[in-house]
Amino acid sequence: MKKAILVTGGGRGIGAAICRLAAAQGYAVAINYVHDEGSAQKLAASISADGGTACTVRGDVAVEADVERLFETTESMLGPLYGVVNNAGITGRIGAFIDADPASIEQIFQTNVFGAMHCCRAALRCFQRSGTAGVIVNISSIAAATGSPNEYVHYAASKAAVETFTLGLAREVASRNIRVCAVAPGSTLTEIHATAGEPGRPARVAPKIPMGRLATPEEIAEPVVWLLSDAASYMTGSIVRCAGGL
Ligand code: NDP
Repeated sequence: MKKAILVTGGGRGIGAAICRLAAAQGYAVAINYVHDEGSAQKLAASISADGGTACTVRGDVAVEADVERLFETTESMLGPLYGVVNNAGITGRIGAFIDADPASIEQIFQTNVFGAMHCCRAALRCFQRSGTAGVIVNISSIAAATGSPNEYVHYAASKAAVETFTLGLAREVASRNIRVCAVAPGSTLTEIHATAGEPGRPARVAPKIPMGRLATPEEIAEPVVWLLSDAASYMTGSIVRCAGGL
């Protein structure tokens, strides 16, 4: 039987690359989306056409009741959960902190931090119910280590919270054979930059990256799917930075 995983925000960008790679490696994948049902369904259809197993599940990770339903629905469709990738995330508008909208700051923390926490708790309950091992991979950002002045300081702080949460939770559940890690990508070519209000950001930041270019979503998916696998069986509380030398 295929191991079931849930990827939050799996319909587009980095999440979609994770879903594609995980399905190709034999996982049954639940693709979560909140708004863009079309992309999630197209991805599920393409994975199925390639012989993989995928389904789509709507749910807002920032809303705890939605998260409960999200995990219940995933298990009802794919069976006991083996892994979760907490990928859903938002940056808010790019800009100096003094100009940041307080509602947007709260939304960023609701999604990136509380969303990951709600999903981790729901995942732990699933693992406990089935009595099996489990893996959680949280998607952080290289910005957690560097801060992101004049661009996304509050977003960077939300990702630092995700990393500290990852470290503590990993130690809390390690004896139950549950691993918790994070991957911290550098700038990656997805729609997130256009959503943040600066579609030209990739070209602006590329020269500041030692490798001279942004990551592709597929390059970020590789360490994520590796961390899910048994090949990473001694990896927990690990923050894997995948950032082209930053
Ligand atoms: P995109 O903007 O391309 O996609 C974001 C995804 O998150 C979408 O699938 C979206 O769902 C989903 N999402 C947003 N809010 C919610 C929510 N409340 N509930 C459920 N799903 C939600 O982002 P990326 O692929 O670029 O980013 C993925 C992750 O990687 C994020 O956590 C981001 O912070 C992190 N990251 C990205 C970097 C980059 O340069 N791209 C760099 C470092 C980290 P829907 O499709 O329904 O709208």
